[in-house]
Amino acid sequence: MTRTILSALAAACLLSGQTEQKKDRSLGYDDTPLLPGQKWRVHDVARPRPPKVIPGAQPSDAIVLFDGRNLSRWTGMLRGGAVVEPKWKVENGYMEVTPGSGHLVSKEKFGDCQLHVEWATPADGQGKGQSAGNSGVALMGHYEIQVLESLHNETYADGQAGSIYGQWPPLVNASRGPGEWQTFDIFFEAPRFESGKLVKTAYFTVVHNGVLVHHRKEVLGRAVHARVAQYAPHGPEEPLMLQNHGRPVRFRNIWIRRLNGYDEPSNDAISKPR
Ligand code: MG
Repeated sequence: MTRTILSALAAACLLSGQTEQKKDRSLGYDDTPLLPGQKWRVHDVARPRPPKVIPGAQPSDAIVLFDGRNLSRWTGMLRGGAVVEPKWKVENGYMEVTPGSGHLVSKEKFGDCQLHVEWATPADGQGKGQSAGNSGVALMGHYEIQVLESLHNETYADGQAGSIYGQWPPLVNASRGPGEWQTFDIFFEAPRFESGKLVKTAYFTVVHNGVLVHHRKEVLGRAVHARVAQYAPHGPEEPLMLQNHGRPVRFRNIWIRRLNGYDEPSNDAISKPR
């Protein structure tokens, strides 16, 4: 009798083991340890899969801010902040800074983002120091990655092409020459303010012509000339600005992606998907 019971138990264990072996782990686990600081288990079966994005010249979830045809997603902004019609020249698939017409400001606002911009300083190569093809890509209108002719043209290190203006020189000078198209791929973490106080600084990661020139570099504050940058509170999202510094710099193929966590609902309302 005892032998019969033992045999039955052994068979049950074997069956249980087989069932366990047959458990499909290919889609994930529900019995693994929790990942520290996360609400998910290792290989969690319930963890949402990232949304699919079709890669390409412009990823499928990118917002195209300039496709070479018109300035419909932009306004002009004069010194002092007056909003005007954008007057930059558009031709042959690019836009060009028209001196005296103000900056270009995106109609839409952005916080954390991935931004792709192509630009070219004037082919004539004229100008010296900060006058040689100066423009800029200012995230949230305040945090500027410098556009400048920096292949042949000498200027201060924290003001050359690819610098976080007035704060950090690029790690290397990856510049191409006057009139040549260049690329910025910018990964930006917006600063956070609470009750008018800074609670998290901004960070830049920047790739210039395929070369890393800033690796999650902490931003000291708003770009300023000949002073130490400081923060001043602003909204969680602000328009992108292309700087008019009086030189006919060209831009083309500008697209941006909002960066919002997809599986980690944040306590921070700023980063919640819209
Ligand atoms: Mg500039």
